[in-house]
Amino acid sequence: MPSSLCETIKNSADNLESPKHNDWITSGKMGSREAVLVFRTNILNPKTRKNLSETNSSPVLPESRSNMEATLLCRNGENDISSLSLPLCSNEDLSGSKQRKIYVSIRNSVNINQTENSDFQSTAKKMNKQYSSSDTSMSSEGEEPTRNIKNKFRTLKKNPNDIHTNLVEDVSKESGYDSTTPAKSTTNISASEEDECVTEDDEECGIAMPAYKLKITYKFIQTETKLLRKIFDVHGLREVEGDNNFNLLWTGVHMKLDILRNLAPYQRVNHFPRSYELTRKDRLYKNIERMQHLRGMKHFDIVPQSFILPLESRDLIIAHNKHRGPWIVKPAASSRGRGIFIVNSPDQIPQDEQVLVSKYIVDPLCIDGHKCDLRVYVLVTSFDPLIIYLYKEGIVRLATVRYDRNADNLWNPCMHLCNYSINKYHSDYIRSSDAQDEDVGHKWTLSALLRHLKIQGCDTHQLMLNIEDLIIKAILACAQTIISACRMFVPNGNNCFELYGFDILIDNSLKPWLLEVNLSPSMGVDSPLDTKVKACLIADLLTCVGIPAYSPEVRSHYDSKWSRFRSSSCQRSINVTSVSYKIKKNKKKGSVSTDHLTGEEQRILRNARLQYSRRGGFERIFPTADSMQRYGNFLDSTNGIPISTPNVQGQTFQTLIMQHNYNQMLHSNLYCQDTSYTIDDSLEKNRIKQYERALENGSEIPFAKKPAVEKSEEEGRRQRKLMLKKIGTGSELTQFQARQTFSLYLESVLKRITQDPRDNHEKIILKFLNKFGGSVKPPVLFRNTQSIKVISKARSAMVAKLLGDFLENYKRDTEAYVDSFDHFGMIPSSAYHQFLTHAQESDLEAVLTLHTNVTGIMPFLYNRCGLSVPPTPPIPSGLHGFLRALPSMVSSSGVAREVSKYDGYFKNNDKDYENVQDASIRPKSSRRF
Ligand code: ADP
Repeated sequence: MPSSLCETIKNSADNLESPKHNDWITSGKMGSREAVLVFRTNILNPKTRKNLSETNSSPVLPESRSNMEATLLCRNGENDISSLSLPLCSNEDLSGSKQRKIYVSIRNSVNINQTENSDFQSTAKKMNKQYSSSDTSMSSEGEEPTRNIKNKFRTLKKNPNDIHTNLVEDVSKESGYDSTTPAKSTTNISASEEDECVTEDDEECGIAMPAYKLKITYKFIQTETKLLRKIFDVHGLREVEGDNNFNLLWTGVHMKLDILRNLAPYQRVNHFPRSYELTRKDRLYKNIERMQHLRGMKHFDIVPQSFILPLESRDLIIAHNKHRGPWIVKPAASSRGRGIFIVNSPDQIPQDEQVLVSKYIVDPLCIDGHKCDLRVYVLVTSFDPLIIYLYKEGIVRLATVRYDRNADNLWNPCMHLCNYSINKYHSDYIRSSDAQDEDVGHKWTLSALLRHLKIQGCDTHQLMLNIEDLIIKAILACAQTIISACRMFVPNGNNCFELYGFDILIDNSLKPWLLEVNLSPSMGVDSPLDTKVKACLIADLLTCVGIPAYSPEVRSHYDSKWSRFRSSSCQRSINVTSVSYKIKKNKKKGSVSTDHLTGEEQRILRNARLQYSRRGGFERIFPTADSMQRYGNFLDSTNGIPISTPNVQGQTFQTLIMQHNYNQMLHSNLYCQDTSYTIDDSLEKNRIKQYERALENGSEIPFAKKPAVEKSEEEGRRQRKLMLKKIGTGSELTQFQARQTFSLYLESVLKRITQDPRDNHEKIILKFLNKFGGSVKPPVLFRNTQSIKVISKARSAMVAKLLGDFLENYKRDTEAYVDSFDHFGMIPSSAYHQFLTHAQESDLEAVLTLHTNVTGIMPFLYNRCGLSVPPTPPIPSGLHGFLRALPSMVSSSGVAREVSKYDGYFKNNDKDYENVQDASIRPKSSRRF
């Protein structure tokens, strides 16, 4: 380290160091190179936050620590952070917080005025969000970019009049939780949704944290999770937009190479380059298939047999002739169950798009008769050396409808798919309302499932070993390309980390099957249990990864030093001195010397140890004591890189350029220091046992309950009259207002069909969606009166899911129509705002009906300038008149562009269902799997 940097670090440490700050820093002294921030879930507790901003001398955090922290503190690993104590709040912090408070209140008053006057854009955006009650879009799951809600909204939320309604909509947007979905039995829906928006308390709490003093920043790109934001904010990180001056970049999509290339050593980003090798379904299956050929099927039999269509249609037919279906068909780059359907035979699969077709696992593990699958969280902090952690708590998702192997039920997604995004629309879906209920309803924790299975006599130890094995093998299958990309684009070994969501199906012989790996697993929450698991996960993830606690001076020093360095080459420097790792003992102390290691190797070893000491609820599954024994064969013997191409060993591209073997080096130094070393089974037992431990009570996040938005019917009627009068006298809704009214109206309809599956509006909705999207055909089951009776709930859920997906896109598009000014002849924003505050379905419908009849235009569906706007149909007055007229408002030529494609479910299910019908006539085709 150059002396000037040492001085910079020392000076900034002197300025910042205080006992309190050191409580939130670990792995090194404040200002040291290794020092990183500590994240804890218990400061999410509003009481704790209150204390933090009000107390200036007493410990702030209560004794109850989160489960993961408690576990962490119990461990006696090296560099244990058991010295972490509770933060105090200094006078300095209080003064900071006061200043901040004043700033916030000034900001509020400014915003209130702006709302009234010129800042209509922000107001409109806020309104767009504020009145939304059932947004299903905000999951960052999969590869779907989601809306990035900006700070401006948060500024507006400081308006005390708005805060409650904002709280509600923020969470429902974020969580993908439809607040309108009915509760069942143990569920109190209104209490299950945490109001986890960023409040003044959070920001004031954040001000007291060292991250705030250090000006540590985060940036979001195409991702939005309120929980993440909240955790960042209470820990004092500030959001930046626009530039690359961030400490942590969190994106919901793949990293741009340009950003990667220019990362400074202290910057962290949440993806590796070319992660799609793992997270695109088709790539994942291809990579694993290659390993099956290269290393043998018995080692890599971890995914159901799969084919990419249309390319491998012939292979699929051959496979089908050998072992009959059913087959599950998935779009290659989709998530959340979108576009998935199940067929009995390959000829039922349309040939017009690229899909992945997998053997359908007909004998899944069921809980109380319901099919379930697992979401487990896997953290990779480095690909070379390979360092993989598995979070000890995961989520088990249950299908709402009891599983039945009969082929007649193949159409039913609420029986065969476990996605929350589908099942939440089923009226029988149960959410647990208490974070302690880990085995209630349709979402369990992994530990609860393991305990449940153990009671039934299942070998849960072997199950978890197999799951670990599956994870490691899937990563080994994809690692080679990712390592090449890291070498090309990532300048520093610590820049990237990635949290993957592994979806695993367990069959009834307890064999785990990998279904897919999610790039950005959803951090949305729909229940207290979800919040508990995900808050612990995020806090532990951030602590484990380690956000360097550098001051701005140190960072700018690095920036200038780094910019000189990285301009010449972005490749990591490698000292090619040694590829053999004989352990040298320091005779004097009896400890192991690492003097023979290169500087880079010493850094890797030190980091691995420190990271392990901060792992919280993560279990390191690679390397482990026996990982070389188990997986050494899959690594190149010279450079330790996982080999997935059929090159002759030792002659790969990597071998030519990599004169190191970090995997071997790390393993030797972590596990083989003692020559008498033998693999200790109890270590493995302890590790596996962790998965059965429930999160402790202390890890519950007691968010405030969602404040009910009280709509006054009387006021609603009054506002509706005023609005109708305005429209009657020539005022018009702006495009934005019309679209917003329409989406709120459809949300009410969605709520109705989800809550009451007997509702008879599904057909109309489907017709509308079909015409609007142009690709949804009414399902056969609508033509079969008998099946309507039997399956009405599931059918409603399917229509609701389609409508939910439509609304998600529609609302995203609506943001593009935000207008900055009140226009002459249009409804003033303030009046519209008042109307929306109390509007119910009938009010919204009345306004839409009159507006369409009076103006003869349909700004909620068509832009005025559109070329092929169909004539406005006469809309009958009276309840649901607007809904009945809705399909005829859409031009059948499909001019609407917003929703270009829907789930192919119905389309393909038509054939499937016909097939089932045929099957009853033709005895040849089996009706059972
Ligand atoms: P998505 O990314 O759209 O959620 P998944 O691959 O996770 O797609 O599959 C969605 C659901 O379909 C899973 O929850 C699982 O229940 C079911 N599923 C997927 N593949 C199979 C399979 N091969 N056999 C049985 N069920 C499957």
